Amino acid sequence: MRFDILTLFPESIDRFLSESIIGRAREKGILDINAINIRDFSQDKHRKTDDYPYGGGAGMVMTPQPIYDAWRSVVEEAGYRPKTIYMSPQGRLFNQKIAQELKEEKHIIILCGHYEGVDERVLEEIVDDEISIGDYVLTGGELPAMVLIDCVSRLVDGVLTSEESYSNESHYDGLLEYPQYTRPPVFMERQVPEVLLSGHHANIEKWRFLQMLERTRARRPDLYALYEEQNKEKVMEAYGLLPKKRRRRKKSDGENNAE
Ligand code: SAM
Repeated sequence: MRFDILTLFPESIDRFLSESIIGRAREKGILDINAINIRDFSQDKHRKTDDYPYGGGAGMVMTPQPIYDAWRSVVEEAGYRPKTIYMSPQGRLFNQKIAQELKEEKHIIILCGHYEGVDERVLEEIVDDEISIGDYVLTGGELPAMVLIDCVSRLVDGVLTSEESYSNESHYDGLLEYPQYTRPPVFMERQVPEVLLSGHHANIEKWRFLQMLERTRARRPDLYALYEEQNKEKVMEAYGLLPKKRRRRKKSDGENNAE
């Protein structure tokens, strides 16, 4: 999967892109991520990329020309028009479902704004989707772009070691993950739950699922209500509230012969 990030601060992204899981996936060629400096496309003799807002007001606005030219350079090189996302506090709120949806794209261009934002006309021309990472305002779109790329990349085949690495995680199917423990078995007089040391896989699965339900109910009642509504039987079964399935009585030989 390919990401091209249009930014005024490529060096703030470079380090993140070279480390850990994302860095390894780039080395393996699974991810192709490039930070493109919008300033390199400025036609201004001082390489300016911002100007005062028409109508007055505080701060500066990013000018349309360098952004458009940076975007066009990617489109022309690719030979098609990739989905283009503007990171913006006014966009739709990012979540795991949107990450799943974006994972299906083979190539995404991400525009990072700065200052008071971006001239509206270039947004109208190039942007397909606006995405916010939360109802708060940050200084620039670089951190939001990294959040989006990290989250989507984890879902791309081959980036994590197995699908299990993310399919058990919080938000994958609407619940928060169960608590995790590692060695030592006792820490500050706190024991690892016994079931996890039992080696009984069915019981461990059952315990973990109950923990997921309990955690989500306590911490995110909104998510729990939705999950419960969509998975009534599964939840009742986990809490032992489903009537036991009637066992079929084994027919005796005599009964079979009588038929
Ligand atoms: N004046 C803009 C407004 O009120 O909507 C905010 C501009 S903000 C200071 C500068 C840039 O940071 C934005 O253009 C956007 O790219 C990025 N940004 C800030 N908060 C964000 C958020 N919550 N999600 C995504 N991007 C954000």
